Amino acid sequence: MPHRVAARRAPRTSVPPIERDPDLLQSFLSDAAHVPGGIAAGVVFPTDAAEVAAVIAASARVLPIGAQSSLTGGATPRGDVVLSTRRLTGISEPRDGSVRAGAGVPLSHLQGVLGAHGLYYPPAPTFDGAFVGGTVATNAAGAATFKYGTTRHWVSGLTVVLADGSILDLQRGDVRASDDGHFEIQRVTGDVATVRIPTYTMPPVPKLSAGYYTAPGMDLIDLFIGSEGTLGVIVDAGLRVIPRPAVCVALMQCDSEMQALAVTSALRSAAMTAWRGEGALDVSAIEYVDAKSIALLDDSAFERVRIARPPAGSTLLVVQIELGAEHEGTLALLHEVLDGCRVASDPILALPGDDRGATRLIELRESVPAAVNARVAAAKAAIDPEIQKTAGDLIVPFERLGESLALYRHAFERRGLEYAIWGHVSDGNLHPNVIPKSLEDVETGREALREMARGVTAMGGAPLAEHGVGRSALKQFLLLELYGERGIEEMRAVKRALDPEGKLAAGVLFP
Ligand SMILES: Cc1cc2nc3c(=O)[nH]c(=O)nc-3n(C[C@H](O)[C@H](O)[C@H](O)COP(=O)(O)OP(=O)(O)OC[C@H]3O[C@@H](n4cnc5c(N)ncnc54)[C@H](O)[C@@H]3O)c2cc1C
Repeated sequence: MPHRVAARRAPRTSVPPIERDPDLLQSFLSDAAHVPGGIAAGVVFPTDAAEVAAVIAASARVLPIGAQSSLTGGATPRGDVVLSTRRLTGISEPRDGSVRAGAGVPLSHLQGVLGAHGLYYPPAPTFDGAFVGGTVATNAAGAATFKYGTTRHWVSGLTVVLADGSILDLQRGDVRASDDGHFEIQRVTGDVATVRIPTYTMPPVPKLSAGYYTAPGMDLIDLFIGSEGTLGVIVDAGLRVIPRPAVCVALMQCDSEMQALAVTSALRSAAMTAWRGEGALDVSAIEYVDAKSIALLDDSAFERVRIARPPAGSTLLVVQIELGAEHEGTLALLHEVLDGCRVASDPILALPGDDRGATRLIELRESVPAAVNARVAAAKAAIDPEIQKTAGDLIVPFERLGESLALYRHAFERRGLEYAIWGHVSDGNLHPNVIPKSLEDVETGREALREMARGVTAMGGAPLAEHGVGRSALKQFLLLELYGERGIEEMRAVKRALDPEGKLAAGVLFP
């Protein structure tokens, strides 16, 4: 397998207009991390790879963006020209289990188009307005990572414009790292860029968005997936798709955290049995909402799903189950698991076809981050404008989940912080969030998150599971702690080889 690939010259075209109207720029100055102080040199909306290349050639610094749903400040400009991918919206006819989609296609739209063909793209993050390019750039992963893995597993091809304006067409399986761990990228000038892959070992967790991917004999395409815009601008991607599964969503009320973990563990085992063809309880995702999160919700959140507010101390699980033709048998197995874990109340079910019911149950889970964000915004307005969302994105091997939860609670409680914890429990990936009452809580909360990061790393997990690193000082620090100075220097060497002038997404991943 070759480790060398030749870039091609971008077709000549003129630079699309770089808009500088302050009112227009204003709407691109922040992403979902809501970090203040965004500033843009302009915004531009290229429609193809040639225009992307022309923008890069004409600009000193370029920040590619998708839907700006980044929770790390990675899509917040710091003086760059913002390259919006929103006009890169082509979608091919799905064929032979794959589809080609422009970087600017929102996943919700992609799922709609695929749905009309009875198809589905599995690795969708919870926010389905994210764009294809943004999800590839951050190796996004959602609730169903447990069954389907992360975005990386579903990308079969990429078109990437490099910092020198040339184009790489990558197909998975075509270019692999040499035995001594390097790639050669032949530029259009004939020069060859040698890219040495980093030597750190990535933690063996099911989802990771923590700097550049590396593995012996790795595929070149994997270097770009998860590179957060720092190595090239993704113009379109070849994505694998599957027949649309018939999904039942179930809301389960547990009387404690311990019971929720027991149910999760039992459901995971049942799912793995089903995947071996020996059972029917095919669970693809389990989401967890802890008692403190429930306490933040208004009564109306429960009224919408027609349940009473759960008693204090209760926890919730929102479970996705893929049903075959034999619904009844599968649901009987689900009840067996719940009985075995002594869950007293019946689950609320939204069966396949009941899209409104399923949406309502998923919205109940989604109302938790919304409630936390509202409290952060209120504290910001009433107490200190510097108050920010202070949240972790931590993952541990599933067997260490109970231990990790004890660590998160202890780290918050001994500092006297209010908090809530929820997330993708089937992957061991949870989001501990501070409910700040002062600017000091934000600082103390960051200290707690650093302690948690060290704890999960010692458990074989990682502090950067799915949201990436971006321009967040805290997350850049966590990346440094995860891979050490040497790891960061090896990443910088990759960046220098492909983008010697530091044109693309400068300041993302490392300062
Ligand atoms: C409510 C909510 C829920 C979320 N849930 C999840 C979740 O379940 N799982 C998860 O993984 N994430 C989640 N996220 C985070 C976010 O949605 C993901 O990181 C998503 O992949 C970002 O996509 P985007 O199109 O918004 O990219 P942006 O936020 O615009 O950009 C993110 C990064 O990718 C780079 N980038 C964007 N497009 C390109 C491109 N075409 N080429 C090169 N680089 C590019 C940017 O420079 C930036 O560094 C959530 C966010 C919110 C607000």
